[in-house]
Amino acid sequence: MIELRGVRKSFGGLEVLKGVDLTVTRGEVVVIIGPSGGGKSTLLRCVNLLEPITAGKVFLEGRDLTEPGVDLNEVRRQIGMVFQQFNLFPHLTALDNLTLAPRRLLRTPRTEAEQAARELLDRVGLADKAGSHPGQLSGGQQQRVAIARALMMAPHVMLFDEVTSALDPELVSEVLDVMRDLARSGMTMLCVTHEMGFARELGDRLVFVDGGVIAEQGRPADVLDEPSGERTRQFLRKVL
Ligand code: ATP
Ligand code: MG
Repeated sequence: MIELRGVRKSFGGLEVLKGVDLTVTRGEVVVIIGPSGGGKSTLLRCVNLLEPITAGKVFLEGRDLTEPGVDLNEVRRQIGMVFQQFNLFPHLTALDNLTLAPRRLLRTPRTEAEQAARELLDRVGLADKAGSHPGQLSGGQQQRVAIARALMMAPHVMLFDEVTSALDPELVSEVLDVMRDLARSGMTMLCVTHEMGFARELGDRLVFVDGGVIAEQGRPADVLDEPSGERTRQFLRKVL
């Protein structure tokens, strides 16, 4: 489904990813953890080449995205991305936030887009908030709108970068519930998160990124309960 092969990324003289190999199969939920500055966000952004990579290859469903001539805008439509900051358009209602991209990019007719948007808002538990602006919604509600918005493009893969980190603790579970529903529906997901409970329950694999490499990976329970690397042990002692 997704394959990163020897991916390197430098910003100026700073090499942030130092040769990452990662294969994600269809329907797999991969949870990425690791210390701040280790390269987790950069790694996610390399999957859809939001960051041009310095070396290596990225394949999506067998297609080499680093080949010249690949339409990256089209590729990015197949990969949904949700961030810590919800990045909703503040002047648009929840409904219009959802319909904007399909109407503009796919030329989906308004009534069709709105029907799909209402179904997705319902799926994330916000059927009654279609007409609300982001400023009228809680952080957890805004984040659920952001997830629904990403799903509007019917992505093949979803990337989540610390989507619960900016939320008040009592709002975290409503967002994790949506992610759980998505994982169970068979969505392929890469999730950077500090939610170890989520990792243990829903992760098919836990990947520990440190110093620009995958330092350790395995079944979440194995890595969390018996980490093999000293760096992994140190990190987990701090977060668990
Ligand atoms: P955090 O847990 O704090 O989110 P992270 O693991 O996601 O950290 P990255 O955001 O990938 O880490 O950053 C890795 C390194 O790359 C850091 O040293 C960061 O300063 C650097 N970096 C990231 N983006 C850029 C950029 N656009 N320009 C220059 N340096 C960058
Ligand atoms: Mg990050």
